[in-house]
Amino acid sequence: MAAAAYAVRKRMDALFISKGLGGRTNRHLELPWVEDYQVAVGDETIQRFRSQLDYLDYMRVRALVTKVQAMNGGFRVEVADGKTYDTKTLIAATGAVGEHLKVPGEREYELRGLCYSAMTYAPLMVDRNVLVVGSELLALRAVAELARIATQVTLVAATDGDLDTPVGQKVLSAENVIVKRNATVLAVHGDGRYARCVEINQQGRVQEIPVDTIFIEKQLIPNSDLFLDLVAVDECGFIKVDARNRTTRPGLFAAGDVTNAMAFQVLMGLGDGEKAALSAFDYLLGLGGEDFVCDTNG
Ligand SMILES: Cc1cc2nc3c(=O)[nH]c(=O)nc-3n(C[C@H](O)[C@H](O)[C@H](O)COP(=O)(O)OP(=O)(O)OC[C@H]3O[C@@H](n4cnc5c(N)ncnc54)[C@H](O)[C@@H]3O)c2cc1C
Repeated sequence: MAAAAYAVRKRMDALFISKGLGGRTNRHLELPWVEDYQVAVGDETIQRFRSQLDYLDYMRVRALVTKVQAMNGGFRVEVADGKTYDTKTLIAATGAVGEHLKVPGEREYELRGLCYSAMTYAPLMVDRNVLVVGSELLALRAVAELARIATQVTLVAATDGDLDTPVGQKVLSAENVIVKRNATVLAVHGDGRYARCVEINQQGRVQEIPVDTIFIEKQLIPNSDLFLDLVAVDECGFIKVDARNRTTRPGLFAAGDVTNAMAFQVLMGLGDGEKAALSAFDYLLGLGGEDFVCDTNG
């Protein structure tokens, strides 16, 4: 939305194709001890872009993009009903999703005491008992952050994962962190309104852990499939971009959670979108040409 709004400001001939408006900003975690006024959900900022694009309805297509091809020095974008759109430049801003546990109770309590973004909600965990699921860097980073705020943090780690790294050692030595190694989540239980407890199996021993909030921090999966044949991605599939949101392919830019910037915050996404639009504008002015690409070593 930010990229589209900036493209319009620059009077570029822009088209915004998306399944919906607002992406993940439409979702937020509900917690029994948090009132809406205590959190800045970014709604006002998002609303500005949303109303601008709603107003400019002519440049917006609500559809699922199914294919992106490079052709004639530009790109052809195909949507679900088979329609195609040709363009000289393209900005990929398709986001990322958190990996689900796929256990009973997860769907029921998603965003009601259970979520996938500790980075966002850690500041609300003062004096709380929280539980993090995962064993890779994403989870350990979350635990390290939460341990500075929450009363107690329990990490449920199915494997040793990245526990043998500096951040893993930090987590293991923290006084208020309990690590349940070789443990898997069996189910999430709640009171019908909020998640309240996690049932785990640690090497055959089943136990229930009462918690205030559950963070699933297994893996973020970028929605980058459409672009895999076109641009370089990192080992997890995030699109590689440079400081100006250029990918490895001239004319193709990327912004937000789908990139390897690893920011995963609304404000970062907004800034990225604006930078990508400005870079697309420069590209169309002929500034750079073939050299105008991200250096994959950078
Ligand atoms: C529960 C939750 C709460 C959060 N709370 C906060 C918060 O309080 N503060 C904060 O700063 N950040 C928060 N975040 C993170 C923030 O929402 C994201 O960093 C931000 O939304 C990323 O923006 P984006 O545009 O890159 O991706 P997204 O918001 O994921 O948007 C991607 C868009 O692309 C569309 N799309 C994807 N594939 C296709 C396709 N093939 N065809 C058409 N359209 C497609 C999607 O429909 C979506 O509209 C939260 C995240 C979650 C999950």
